[in-house]
Amino acid sequence: MITSGSGWAEDPADATTPVANSAAAVERLSANAPSLERLDARVSVCRACPRLVEWRERVAIEKRAAFRDEPYWGRPIPGWGDPRARILVLGLAPAAHGGNRTGRIFTGDRSGDWLFAALHRAGLARLATSTRSGDGQRLTDVRIAAAVRCAPPANAPTPEERDTCRPWLVRELDFMRQRLAVIVVLGGFAWAALWPALVEAGYDVPARRRKFGHLSEVELPGGVLVLGSYHPSQQNTFTGKLTEPMLDEVFARAVAAAGETFPDSGA
Ligand code: SF4
Repeated sequence: MITSGSGWAEDPADATTPVANSAAAVERLSANAPSLERLDARVSVCRACPRLVEWRERVAIEKRAAFRDEPYWGRPIPGWGDPRARILVLGLAPAAHGGNRTGRIFTGDRSGDWLFAALHRAGLARLATSTRSGDGQRLTDVRIAAAVRCAPPANAPTPEERDTCRPWLVRELDFMRQRLAVIVVLGGFAWAALWPALVEAGYDVPARRRKFGHLSEVELPGGVLVLGSYHPSQQNTFTGKLTEPMLDEVFARAVAAAGETFPDSGA
C-alpha cells in the first residue's frame, strides 16, 4: 500500500490528512471537508470498512502476476477530473487490479479502456487511454467517481459498506452543485446508490423514479439530468450488450444536455 505523502503522482493526501476509521467519522469528515480537493484527500486515506481495507491491502501485496513488479496503490479511490465539471460519471467501485493498483478511478483496467476512449471521442478527455496516475490524462468538463470507493471482493460491496461510503458522494454532489448538469450512471448498482445520496445532498428528487436502463433518463426538478448507461464491464462489452456506438450515444446526449443547462462549458 502507498503511504500518503510518499510522492505517488496525483496523491491528494499528505501525512496530516485526517483518517476516517468508522462510519461516524466518514459522516463527520465528509460534512466538514472545506473543499473538493480536501474531500478527495480524506477519501483517499479512509479506513472505515474493515473488510474492504483488508481486501484492498491484501490485493496490493499479493498482486496479479502481470503487475508483479509494480507498486499498488491499495487505498480508496477518490473522484477525479475537472473540478468545474458539468458532467459527473458514477460507477460502482474501483477494480482490484485497476484503480486499486493505479490510484485513479477506471485507470488501468478494461472497463476504463472503454470509458476513457469514449470520453476522448466525445472531446471530454485529452487522451484515449488512461494507464496510470501522472500519465498526462486530463478530463474537461467531466468528473468520475464511484459509489463505493474501495475495491470490493467479487465486485460486490455489502449494503452496509455502500451506506458507510455514501457521505463521501453526498459531499461531492454538494461541492459540484453550482455546475452539475448531468449525471451519467454506469450500471444498476450505481443507479440505486445515487438516489439516496442525491436526497441527502439536498437535491430535489421526484418520488417516482424510472428503472435503470441504457439511456434511461430522469430530469430532476432542479434541472439535473440523470442518464443511465450499461456499465462498460468486460461482461457487457464482450457479449455486445454494450457497444462503442451505444456508449458514444450516452456521452453525446450528456454533452448536449449539459450545453442546454449551462451554455458556457467552462473549459
Ligand atoms: Fe472508506 Fe468508502 Fe473505502 Fe469504506 S468503501 S473504507 S467508507 S472509502
